[in-house]
Amino acid sequence: MSDDKKYIKGDKLKALYDQTLLCTSCGYCKSVCPAFKGTLWDHNTARSKMVLAYGLLQGDIPVDDSVVQSIFECTTCGDCMRRCPSNVKTVDVLMAARQELAGLHEVPETMELALENIEKHGNPQGEPASAREEFLPDEAKAKLRTGGDVLVFLGCVASNTDMKVTSAIFKILERAGVSYTTLGEKEPCCGFLNYLAGYDSDAFGKGLLEQIETLNPRPKMVVTPCPGCYRTLHHIYPENGVDLGLESKHILEFFDELIEKGDLTVTKKLEGNVLYHDPCDLGRHAEMYDEPRKLLSHFAEVKEFKFNRDKSHCCGGGGGLQSTNYDISSSMAKARLTEANELEGDFIVSACPACKSMFSNAASDFKKETGKKFKVRDLVEIVHKNTKGKES
Ligand code: SF4
Ligand code: SF4
Repeated sequence: MSDDKKYIKGDKLKALYDQTLLCTSCGYCKSVCPAFKGTLWDHNTARSKMVLAYGLLQGDIPVDDSVVQSIFECTTCGDCMRRCPSNVKTVDVLMAARQELAGLHEVPETMELALENIEKHGNPQGEPASAREEFLPDEAKAKLRTGGDVLVFLGCVASNTDMKVTSAIFKILERAGVSYTTLGEKEPCCGFLNYLAGYDSDAFGKGLLEQIETLNPRPKMVVTPCPGCYRTLHHIYPENGVDLGLESKHILEFFDELIEKGDLTVTKKLEGNVLYHDPCDLGRHAEMYDEPRKLLSHFAEVKEFKFNRDKSHCCGGGGGLQSTNYDISSSMAKARLTEANELEGDFIVSACPACKSMFSNAASDFKKETGKKFKVRDLVEIVHKNTKGKES
């Protein structure tokens, strides 16, 4: 190379070269892209990113800050992929581009900071590991690392930022008489943020596997309230050759089974219009659309957003965008609340602590601006407030 500019190696993107050529620049992806809608910059559309990926791969475009910004200003929501008439695997190309940039240590500073926190403290928030045990109810503290049929993998967002969801999970399990355990301060980060940043992680899943091996009895199932953790445990670990040796489920699937078996009984229904929001990682990326609606239908008649299921709009918290461009990501949450307001929604229910956090923050601004108050809830909280166990 004759200049001192940085160029990608191409080893990750090479396999997707054909995908970059498939893009006809028709622009149909533009109308759905939340990153475009948040900025009105064409460089944020999938089509511009496909051209950029092609240019990077050809060695025509060196890596600079604008390249990093463009590749990371994306929620990886996958709506462009759904819309694309040429079936371009846009998100695969974007993820491979992130891997190329990570290979050069060209990752946005805020994301690097979160990754450093994971390295030092085991979570992106930079909380001490012991904080994972602070929100636990006493019953759950008594079952820390004891072993049991079901391992609860809380994930960093629920563990460190959502006391209500964390506490509700264990109260429900106690109520239903489930044999469970959880790892507390020994729970490692699942690695999803490393994945989103483009870092290869040889350690993917290995830390969790080591912890599982210490549990006696060994759990038969791991459940998590976080769609990012679910995707990681259920899809990304196996794709990276890691077998945890147990079944993995989103916790909503497990709670629905408890209701169906009669271990939990519904005591109350919700009053008002209840809208279900599909998290991108659970919906478009894991195709789990019916299960959350089935669980929620025990408690309410589920109303749909105009854009729902595979057409759902992102809350803004996906792809690490919250850490790289908070303004765009919060504008996405606000846009979703505007949709909910047009439908006269009272509750906005999701199955993702990150979606809940995005909507809760946006809802307080929305209330100040319009006077409209939304009740933003995780499905876990709905189950907690409106069920009883056999004994109660
Ligand atoms: S819709 Fe598909 S083919 Fe059209 S510009 Fe977007 S990525 Fe390219
Ligand atoms: S994944 Fe989502 S945010 Fe990223 S380019 Fe596609 S539509 Fe836009």
